[in-house]
Amino acid sequence: MDKNQIWQAVLGEIELNLSKANFTTWFKNTFILSFENNEVILCVPNTFTKTWLEKKYHEEIKKALSNIINEEIKNILYKVQIKKSEDNNKVEKINITTTNTTPTNIRKNINLKSSYNNYGLNPKYIFDTFIVGKGNDLAHAAAQAVTANPGKAYNPLFIYGGVGLGKTHLLQAIGNEVAKKHKVLYITSERFTNDYVQAVHGGKAKDFKDYYRNVDMLLIDDVQFMAGKDGTQEEFFHTFNELQQNDRQIIITSDKPPKSIPALEKRLLSRFESGMVADVSKPDIETKIAILQEKAREKNYSLNGDILEYISNNINNNIRELEGALNKIIAFHEFNNSTPTLKTTKNILNDLLINIQAKNTTIKDIICAVCGFYNIKDKDLLGKGRKKEIVWPRQIAIFLMREELNASYPTIGQELGGRDHTTAMHAYNKILEEVNEKENEKIKQEIESIKQLLNS
Ligand code: ADP
Ligand code: MG
Repeated sequence: MDKNQIWQAVLGEIELNLSKANFTTWFKNTFILSFENNEVILCVPNTFTKTWLEKKYHEEIKKALSNIINEEIKNILYKVQIKKSEDNNKVEKINITTTNTTPTNIRKNINLKSSYNNYGLNPKYIFDTFIVGKGNDLAHAAAQAVTANPGKAYNPLFIYGGVGLGKTHLLQAIGNEVAKKHKVLYITSERFTNDYVQAVHGGKAKDFKDYYRNVDMLLIDDVQFMAGKDGTQEEFFHTFNELQQNDRQIIITSDKPPKSIPALEKRLLSRFESGMVADVSKPDIETKIAILQEKAREKNYSLNGDILEYISNNINNNIRELEGALNKIIAFHEFNNSTPTLKTTKNILNDLLINIQAKNTTIKDIICAVCGFYNIKDKDLLGKGRKKEIVWPRQIAIFLMREELNASYPTIGQELGGRDHTTAMHAYNKILEEVNEKENEKIKQEIESIKQLLNS
């Protein structure tokens, strides 16, 4: 094996244990520069990645490397170096951007400045009140890097994840911090779309363009709503380019990764993927407890450990629901002028939990929905049969488990009748290719229908 093959094999191993976003973010454009006397020099595209790999993934990389070459690795040195062949443009860009040039034709028209001030930003969403834990540490680190170096660290930064997991909070935390010194514009993509349509109808397209292209930082929340809105996407594309070329920072949130946003123009997709993509996923118990403590503290309230633990153990979907539960408990006890106990908490949360549990999708739900949709038996889906009518639904089930539940390949293999993880990986990539590269409408439609079954 040469050093490239070794590295590909190592990546294959590491990919198994990471979420898609984490994997792409930290391992994209990495390569082995040299490999001598069991000492490896690993090249990474920037210092942020270097620090992160050293801090968080060093042991994992070392272990995977040692496994592959079947010998103990002595040391890994991380070096910032961009792959020459693919990234010539990037290298040039970094050199040019050292002086802060603001084209005068862009700056000229600004008398709207005051109206940008903290526009749409909620002062409550700041870094101090954001709890960092497993599930959001990557997005949080990226958010901080961008706050410290707007327009330089990562542009764009794309944060995605399910509802109520802190995307808006994080986006606004960046905004609130940067707005102390720069012109920041926060907007939901729905609002952007409405404003754009109105501007065009009112003959004010030029004002619209100037307004959006004059900010130092543009925060676009819930970009998935732009799906299928071609005119808005076109306008956004140009705004995006103009801002990016002038080193203005763009940060985008979405409920799904760029690739999974339906009806998103290819060129926008590639722009979204060109910076840093970071995911937020569900918090673990410790993080949930810490968040509850923080939320209670903000309300000058405190709750016993057993109560916090009970809430955290039983509310699994997202942080908004966690907060809802807390508010309900506080409201009840303030109204009755009593102190919360585990017993009262359980009573209060009962109804809430019944509602919430009904919504939790599981691997079994996916198997059930897929079998229902294709009209096959689950024992066939889980079995060894290789007939096309079975293999296809099986691959779709794997795809949905990965996309909807973020399940790991080994888990998927296990749940699907004890298959090997590589089978799961292969199936996932195959469907992904059909959906994205080949734009297979029939499959997209099938997947959408199954998702609707899941949500109904
Ligand atoms: P999203 O935009 O992902 O749907 P939000 O940012 O609106 O989610 O978060 C929902 C609620 O949960 C907000 O009140 C937010 O303050 C809170 N929240 C989410 N993540 C965290 C966190 N890590 N620490 C503290 N509060 C959080
Ligand atoms: Mg939001």
